[in-house]
Amino acid sequence: MRYVPKKIREGINVSDVHPLADASVLIAGLSAIAVVIALALIFLIEVALYFIPAETEARLFSSWLPEDLTAISPVDDRLYQTQRLVDRLVEHWAGAPFEFRVEVEDTDAANAMALPGGLIIVTRGLLDDVDSENELAFVLGHELGHYRNRDHLRALGRGLVLALFFRVITGNDVAGIGINVADITVRSFSRKQESQADEFGLAIVNAEYGHVEEAWRLFQRWESEGASIDDGIRYLSTHPRPGDRVLRMQELADREGWSRQGAVTDLPW
Ligand SMILES: [Zn+2]
Repeated sequence: MRYVPKKIREGINVSDVHPLADASVLIAGLSAIAVVIALALIFLIEVALYFIPAETEARLFSSWLPEDLTAISPVDDRLYQTQRLVDRLVEHWAGAPFEFRVEVEDTDAANAMALPGGLIIVTRGLLDDVDSENELAFVLGHELGHYRNRDHLRALGRGLVLALFFRVITGNDVAGIGINVADITVRSFSRKQESQADEFGLAIVNAEYGHVEEAWRLFQRWESEGASIDDGIRYLSTHPRPGDRVLRMQELADREGWSRQGAVTDLPW
């Protein structure tokens, strides 16, 4: 039988659909793959950050301040006294890896947050709202708890995590890394991270004063006043509901045998 080659159809290598449609399918597919790879990388880096020694983090951020921070005057007594209180509380944390620095942000909104490298920011609004040193000590102890569990790195946000990662790799310091307080205050921790920070904070308060009297009174006041985020209590947007929180703290104190009664220390200002 003689082989008769079939005539090849014209345009066999050309897709039947319009070339632009083909191109868009290709582009969409490649973009999807790129996005998946990027997300996986960011996730891995976020996990890896937990393994950066706290000492490295402390060194990288030793003189760093957020770009948008409006601090109160450096000679304001409230700044000095809050720093002193943190220094006293940290004495109960053996092997604390940071030299904690306090900055007081000049805003009416009440908030407190743990930033990289041991930078604790409390707002003037929060200092206006606390009625005793014991109340403030618990808020600060709670933030120390976030450092202990290294939650504060989680709050950095994806873009910042990437930026930080490259700083770590290149060994540069983080000046100009572009972290804003505004980015960090909108991020909240998980329930578990919050209750672990509460446990650490309450233990530190008990170690400092020998009791936990008034440790949670600020939250009780906010609860009874029906205070909300709209009233400028931004702390409530990043922390658990005050009522539930007080109950859990009271249970914890009873479980640990920490006295709920004791002498309360006035604020030094
Ligand atoms: Zn917290």
